[in-house]
Amino acid sequence: MNSTLPFSIGLTGGIGSGKSTVADLFAARGASIVDTDQIAHSLTAPGGAAMPAIVAEFGAEFADANGALDRARMRALVFADPGAKIRLEAILHPRIRDTALAAAEAATGSYVMFAVPLLVESGSWRARVTRVLAVDCPEEVQIARVMARNNLPETQVRAIMATQASRQQRLAAADDIIENGGGIEALEPQIARLHDLYLQMRS
Ligand code: ADP
Repeated sequence: MNSTLPFSIGLTGGIGSGKSTVADLFAARGASIVDTDQIAHSLTAPGGAAMPAIVAEFGAEFADANGALDRARMRALVFADPGAKIRLEAILHPRIRDTALAAAEAATGSYVMFAVPLLVESGSWRARVTRVLAVDCPEEVQIARVMARNNLPETQVRAIMATQASRQQRLAAADDIIENGGGIEALEPQIARLHDLYLQMRS
């Protein structure tokens, strides 16, 4: 527990594990989802609140013609220069946090669920939420889903996974786990049980 936030859940999982799918099912039951990936995207969209700081730090060439982040250019820079990644995160992370906390304060659902892909890698998100919920599935399933969804070769999916916490690290950090190695129909009873638990814990 922490004093700054009411009861909240941190939803995490590796790429392709099924976080978005699971978040939608909790939302259908009345939870308020605050998605940090969506927030990061809107901060760097045309007119996004992080764009002036990004242009000041990296140069106008990192904004495209619409004023959005030139993602390909930034990806190439941070790949080549780890220091640039740290500078970019120093701009984005506090803004993501502030926007997410404001959204949580304004939320009207039965409880707040923060969707944070890299929650296990981020000490601050872990400390901020009451409970960590990890979506888990075998790595082969993860790889197959991302290859199909993003039309990526296996090597590239594995390269992304190598930048994320391992399945074991994620499971070790989780208070609750949703198994999503099977079909979608296997999710509903797990969501129902956890939603009831969260309603009880919140009160
Ligand atoms: P994440 O948000 O963790 O990256 P998604 O929820 O987007 O993962 O799921 C990755 C892909 O796998 C999506 O195309 C989604 O529709 C699909 N998917 C998720 N869970 C299942 C499941 N249990 N069975 C089949 N496909 C699934």
